[in-house]
Amino acid sequence: MMTGLDYLTGMRCLRCGRGYPPAPTRYVCEVCGDDGNLDAQYDYRRIAADWDRDALAGDADPAMWRYAPLLPVTAPPAYLSRSPLGSKPSTLATVGGTPLIAAPRIAAEVGVREVWIKDDGRNPTGSLKDRASAVAVLKAQEAEARVITTASSGNAAAALAGMAAAVGMRAVIFVPATAPSAKVAQLLVFGADVYLVEGTYDQAFDLCLAAAREYGWYCRNTGYNPYTVEGKKSVSLEIGEQLGWQAPDRVLVSVGDGNIISGVWKGFHDLHQLGWMERMPRIYGIQAAGSDVLCTAWEAETETITPIVAHTVADSISVGQPRDAVRALRAVRTTGGEYVRVGDDEILAAIPSLARGAAVFAEPSGAAAYAGLRALAAVGKLDPDDRIVVIATGSGLKDIASAMKSVGQAARIEPSLGSLDRALRLVAQVVD
Ligand SMILES: *Cc1c(COP(=O)(O)O)cnc(C)c1O
Ligand SMILES: [Zn+2]
Repeated sequence: MMTGLDYLTGMRCLRCGRGYPPAPTRYVCEVCGDDGNLDAQYDYRRIAADWDRDALAGDADPAMWRYAPLLPVTAPPAYLSRSPLGSKPSTLATVGGTPLIAAPRIAAEVGVREVWIKDDGRNPTGSLKDRASAVAVLKAQEAEARVITTASSGNAAAALAGMAAAVGMRAVIFVPATAPSAKVAQLLVFGADVYLVEGTYDQAFDLCLAAAREYGWYCRNTGYNPYTVEGKKSVSLEIGEQLGWQAPDRVLVSVGDGNIISGVWKGFHDLHQLGWMERMPRIYGIQAAGSDVLCTAWEAETETITPIVAHTVADSISVGQPRDAVRALRAVRTTGGEYVRVGDDEILAAIPSLARGAAVFAEPSGAAAYAGLRALAAVGKLDPDDRIVVIATGSGLKDIASAMKSVGQAARIEPSLGSLDRALRLVAQVVD
């Protein structure tokens, strides 16, 4: 099977434009250093000549590998073989293929034609990060590395630990000591070497980079490894296919480092370049008010960012120094989208609102995108004709403590009808 590696023409620095031959361990630009993120370049003409939407429609396996000609991995080994009936050679083969769920009640509430929720919490380890970690593990194998490492606020690490377990590779993980316990549990259960760093995510990031250089480990760090975006873009390839190749008007996604939003842009860009989708959607980046570096840069119309100390309940987007800033800013600017800030109170309120409106239970960072939809509606920025996609990036089960802050307590009763009856009357009074 042909993969994106067969069509990859090179890697280009997003800052200075220098080109490099593709190599799994070429992470950043030689001249620009860590600020010079590399972007994979494809020969779209050749891809379009070898592959079309009908061929894709004939593949009954929904996992992300259906888009192999756009994924820069070596010819998928046995564990990526296509299996429509659901028996799978490995967990790696199950990543992606998440549902796009219609939310007509939410659409009516915010006054638009259609709202769709892309429920990416339904990936194997519960977040969109599986898409990136699956590709990173294959790149590590291509580089013949024995160890793969990452720093993460939690989900990228859980995804890497899970995907490394899927192929039997050793993973070394650096997370802030404050990471939610469900995410730390995932790391330990999947058998990764886990280091809880007494510092911020940004400090864990720098430590991981230094360790990768020191010990020769393959580094998956977000906004440093150029292949994570290539995995994450599969979310947009799926959205395009799920909407019958009709571009949505707006796509909303929460933003920390800016790597997911860069992937969202790249996936739609690929479809646009192939001629499969007529136009790009407007892309909206939603940030927590306490972690709003990209909002500030976007407002100031600059690609130079000013790091802050981030504080937000949405741990997955708590980033003081976004590592994929240039691309993340361009994704919004070039598509006519916006950066939007939402407060922690709005993020927490969005959790039950999204769960009740569309039966999707998202973690705070996932619900933040939906809080952004409410915020845009509140200031009259939506159009009645709009078809909007909100990406719910992570599962609510990742952070139960925050979810519980957004809802009341359940009533405690004796195991008797009398006790239930008294409790029901109490509810009735509240409802009246
Ligand atoms: C990582 C993550 C984000 C933000 O992605 P960035 O690439 O850091 O912008 C949003 N939501 C969830 C659930 C995440 O895990
Ligand atoms: Zn450069």
